[in-house]
Amino acid sequence: MGSEPHHQLHVFFFPVMVQGHMIPMVDIARLFAARGVKATIITTPLNAPLFSKTVDRYTNLGMEISIHIIPFPSVEAGLPEGCESINSIPDPKMIQNFFKALNMLQQPLEQLLQEQGPDCIVADMFLPWTTDAAAKFGIPRLVFHGTSFFSLCVSDSLRRYEPHKNTTSDTETFVAPGLPDQIELIGSMLPDYIKGETQNEFGKKMELVREADKRSYGILMNSFYELEPAYAEHYTKAMGMKAWPIGPVSLCNRDITDKAERGRKAAINEHECSSWLDSKQPNSVLYVCFGSVSRFSNAQLLEIAMALEASGHPFVWVVRKDVEMSSMAEDEEKWLPEGFEERMEGKGLIIRGWAPQMLILDHEATGGFMTHCGWNSTLEGISAGVPMVTWPLFAEQFYNEKLVTQVLRIGAGVGAREWSSSTKERKETVKREGIEKAVRLLMGGGEEAEQMRSRASGLGEIAKRAVEENGSSYANLTALIEELRLHRQPKT
Ligand code: UDP
Repeated sequence: MGSEPHHQLHVFFFPVMVQGHMIPMVDIARLFAARGVKATIITTPLNAPLFSKTVDRYTNLGMEISIHIIPFPSVEAGLPEGCESINSIPDPKMIQNFFKALNMLQQPLEQLLQEQGPDCIVADMFLPWTTDAAAKFGIPRLVFHGTSFFSLCVSDSLRRYEPHKNTTSDTETFVAPGLPDQIELIGSMLPDYIKGETQNEFGKKMELVREADKRSYGILMNSFYELEPAYAEHYTKAMGMKAWPIGPVSLCNRDITDKAERGRKAAINEHECSSWLDSKQPNSVLYVCFGSVSRFSNAQLLEIAMALEASGHPFVWVVRKDVEMSSMAEDEEKWLPEGFEERMEGKGLIIRGWAPQMLILDHEATGGFMTHCGWNSTLEGISAGVPMVTWPLFAEQFYNEKLVTQVLRIGAGVGAREWSSSTKERKETVKREGIEKAVRLLMGGGEEAEQMRSRASGLGEIAKRAVEENGSSYANLTALIEELRLHRQPKT
């Protein structure tokens, strides 16, 4: 090992092609670049335009950050031509083809490692083979999971102790053992691959992910220590993993354009959106958005509409309509109750498509966030100091809900209980009464709501301090960069 003080560290950033992974990874690359590291983001032709303007803006500020495009073998892997993102897979069964295409990226990545000789690669959890690719070139691979310490700990507890196997039904409550808090769950909230174990393809993939995690240099976390200290400790000490919490990474988006165009250009003009919010009282608006991949049936959308109207609170409701959701686009308006938009004029703003989420959450009129508890959204809500109405749907979202409602106590649930992969039809519809009750509780100004609001606001302040100079996340990134410099192999 040897360090050269004048050598500029060069790091590759390789996210899987889905918004919830690309958005934070681009932020992370920018954080490294802002510290003088040369950052190269690796992606495919159709994904690059989603963040190329953001990267250009940063390059213009003098940062060394760039995008390197490698072709995506869609057709070779049995996917339709142009299918380069998980969101654009036409048939849920094709997820295996998508993973196959990801595996086929190993050879081009290794060629790139050979040509460019970076000092480290930060690669997505879903690219477990990058641990081996990095090892071949003697550089560390850092894993990016894009979730909370809390959910990694819960997931590990369930896998290790399998408490759900001691229940007689999917609705019987059990406790996830060995954790700092009593976290209660029911079987229907657990992912298929936890229940079906390694039999299914996704379960096998997760085994590879876990095994590669253990052999990697460590884990880069989009979290901050003060948010979940007991779980950060549990993860690193009890589970023996090395981790650097450097978030909330979204807070690197300080100017309006960065916020408005994060992920992709918003479907609403940012000034129109801001002036609509400007016309509302502080903390009066509920922002409703379920991330970048979820989709609801018309029946479920109707329940949401009825609940929002009945609750009487102003709202911004994001309903995505884009080429990736063609089936919903076709009967786009059928879910709206008769005369809904006319009645909601001035009271509710419906955004059809991509919303400028950070702008909305940061606006003082926004006083609540109905979220599916995707980790990015959860942490963005926390960073903005906004309490939440929780409605988990899939992935690790039911665990994140427990963090929000039970550990941090900054949210109320609508009563969702059914884990169902983003591509499958749901059996249960969450009824309007449950949704309305949670909205009224959060937005109604009662004592419980005010306590949640005050805790959320406090956490928002701590989040902002964590990424400021000398804050915990800032210091962790400094320490990591230092360590990578020391680890750097002297080049011959
Ligand atoms: N997002 C956005 N506008 C939208 C929908 C989502 O900016 O209309 C962003 C959101 O801010 C977050 C990401 O997309 O950064 C979604 O990630 P998350 O982990 O919350 O959920 P996922 O999409 O992975 O389910």
